[in-house]
Amino acid sequence: MSKLRLEGKVAIITGAASGIGEATARLFVEHGAFVVVADIQDELGDQVVSSIGKEKASYKHCDVSVEKQVEETVAFTIEKYGSLDIVYSNAGMGGSFSSILDFSLEDFNKIMATNVSGAALMIKHAARAMLDRRIRGSIICTASVAAVQAGFAPHCYTASKHAVVGLVQSACSELGAYGIRVNCVSPSGVGTPLACDIAKVSSKHVEQYTAKMSLLKGIILKAKHIADAALFLASDDSVYLNGHNLVVDGGFTVAASSFPINVSS
Ligand code: NAD
Repeated sequence: MSKLRLEGKVAIITGAASGIGEATARLFVEHGAFVVVADIQDELGDQVVSSIGKEKASYKHCDVSVEKQVEETVAFTIEKYGSLDIVYSNAGMGGSFSSILDFSLEDFNKIMATNVSGAALMIKHAARAMLDRRIRGSIICTASVAAVQAGFAPHCYTASKHAVVGLVQSACSELGAYGIRVNCVSPSGVGTPLACDIAKVSSKHVEQYTAKMSLLKGIILKAKHIADAALFLASDDSVYLNGHNLVVDGGFTVAASSFPINVSS
């Protein structure tokens, strides 16, 4: 049996009612953590918590773009579990494809409010709570392969995910002095509602597209693979990693195409 990597740790995961956040909530609990599932989809969030088990997980409504709700979620977690060791700021919205000639400031502000301000607010209130209690915590954000390579996600989304990487690097430059690590995970396409909504395609189609772009063949990227990366960054297995962007893309963003020589033929 593998060892529990988060035994007794307390975590908040935003955007945990669905997709990557949900898979991570399940994995963190399997590894011994207590998890607060924070989201705006209350019914789904409650269902996730019921299926995980209420002794290890709780649901808290939290719109990450509203500072008061972020602050209350941190306070709720400390009150209920007495600590805060890990924050996975993962909530995000994708928007839809449109030409830069039709750039909408309203859409841009909405996406930035969730993807960037939401992450900054989580970092702020999580770090305050950790500092007050002298906790050497781990803060993780979800960026995206769109933060590494442009051209396959909407403009506003691409800009927001670049900002997340910058935010993580900037925050880590300050919080490292207190032993608080800040890193991010950058997934390639996973067949979640967010990805399907961006591209207006099915989950299977997202998976097939990702598989086609990946240099690593014979494996379909699932939310669980991103959860595995978040678990690594949350646990002491990554104790010296700070300001890192862990890209989970089968090598997609590293090379423009597969190497032209196939040694098996
Ligand atoms: P998802 O749609 O399954 O989950 C996103 C969750 O975020 C939803 O439960 C939604 O309710 C929640 N959310 C949205 N706005 C919120 C807000 N203001 N406050 C709180 N919660 C909010 O999609 P997912 O793919 O699991 O997305 C998780 C993260 O992964 C996002 O940040 C997304 O940008 C990122 N990401 C996804 C992919 C992909 O291909 N699926 C690739 C790269 C990055």
